Amino acid sequence: MNVDLTEDQQMIKELAAKFAQEQLKPQAAKFEEDEEIPPEILQELGSLGFMGMMVPEDLGGAGLDAVSYAVAIEEIARADASTAVTVAVNNSLVCGIFTEFASDEQKKKFLPPLAKGEKIGSYALTEPEAGTDAGNVQTTAVLDGDHYVVNGTKTFITNGGLAGTVLLFASTNKELKAKGLCCLVVEKGNPGFSVGSREKKMGMRAANVSELVFENCRVPKENRIGEEGQGLKIAFTALDSGRISIAAQAVGIAQAAFDEAVQYSKQRQQFGRPICQFQAIQFMLADMATRIEAARLLTHRAAHIKEQGVRFSTEASMAKLFASETATWVCTKALQIHGGYGYMKDYAVERYFRDARLTEIYEGTSEAQRMVIARGLLR
Ligand SMILES: Cc1cc2nc3c(=O)[nH]c(=O)nc-3n(C[C@H](O)[C@H](O)[C@H](O)COP(=O)(O)OP(=O)(O)OC[C@H]3O[C@@H](n4cnc5c(N)ncnc54)[C@H](O)[C@@H]3O)c2cc1C
Repeated sequence: MNVDLTEDQQMIKELAAKFAQEQLKPQAAKFEEDEEIPPEILQELGSLGFMGMMVPEDLGGAGLDAVSYAVAIEEIARADASTAVTVAVNNSLVCGIFTEFASDEQKKKFLPPLAKGEKIGSYALTEPEAGTDAGNVQTTAVLDGDHYVVNGTKTFITNGGLAGTVLLFASTNKELKAKGLCCLVVEKGNPGFSVGSREKKMGMRAANVSELVFENCRVPKENRIGEEGQGLKIAFTALDSGRISIAAQAVGIAQAAFDEAVQYSKQRQQFGRPICQFQAIQFMLADMATRIEAARLLTHRAAHIKEQGVRFSTEASMAKLFASETATWVCTKALQIHGGYGYMKDYAVERYFRDARLTEIYEGTSEAQRMVIARGLLR
């Protein structure tokens, strides 16, 4: 693998960094306070091509490769992690499933507005009794003529309250358990579909994470992606790609925390000199930079392998596991370097510390990543 970015990848990185540093970073604390990313920000990201980065151009996307996608998510997360996850779910989980599994008709109908950011997508798998055990979905989809009648509740759904298009995983046959799931497209305004309560979170507070409720919701049969029984396979395949983007997000948060720590250590004086002159601080900075670089390389490697068209589940999970645990570790050190000030809301590291923690949980916990990696190694 060539570790240098190509000219095109470097260009995408610079475009994402410019937008993120100018439009997101200065407002990230306000987004968090308001618990909202202004809709015009998402529209602008859409018009720049960041909402459908790997969607083919003829379907409204930017037609980029997986490494470009990872570097763009890293730059967005470096400025605002909430925006990064909003964008990442739309890209890897929602557009990714349409691109890989939908029929040509479904692609033409649903993908362009998602790829252009005119509609926001969400991916609804998790339920109160189906977290890591994702196959234990209780939501049912019963065929009635040319419609499925859907009943159930989904929890913790990113973009849930914003979503114009929901990819819903439901069971058409409870006896088949995990093998009885299907993937359905539900649109905003579909009778029987409503957004439930919005979650109050520790971090990434600007990201909209909500409950979705389906009560005798009639979904046209032609909105089924793939076959009955393929739902979990579709959901898990999308998560492989999603994990590369969460790894990239974690690298972005870690890099932002590191940047703040370096700057602060040069400014803060104790014992008559900047604290960066103390070896204890220098060693923390050295370890932080080394781990961030390793996390970035694992992330780019997973993206590179995905581009080769071969199986990349193990590498994606390795990248997500290492990058998310690195982000938490780096943010802890960045906070430590800030001393008491790092514990105060006036300093960005306080937010990074809370944001980082989530990357170890969603799209599969660290324990789930270790299970995927071990399965890959023992196959
Ligand atoms: C902010 C946020 C946003 C989210 N967004 C989405 C979304 O957009 N769409 C969606 O579908 N879901 C989403 N999720 C759900 C997320 O993917 C789940 O929370 C996650 O997979 C863990 O499931 P759980 O919370 O039910 O934990 P549980 O599965 O109950 O796990 C609890 C603990 O047990 C451990 N554990 C469980 N099973 C095992 C095992 N077999 N071996 C070892 N340890 C195990 C876990 O690692 C964890 O430490 C989101 C979650 C959050 C917090």
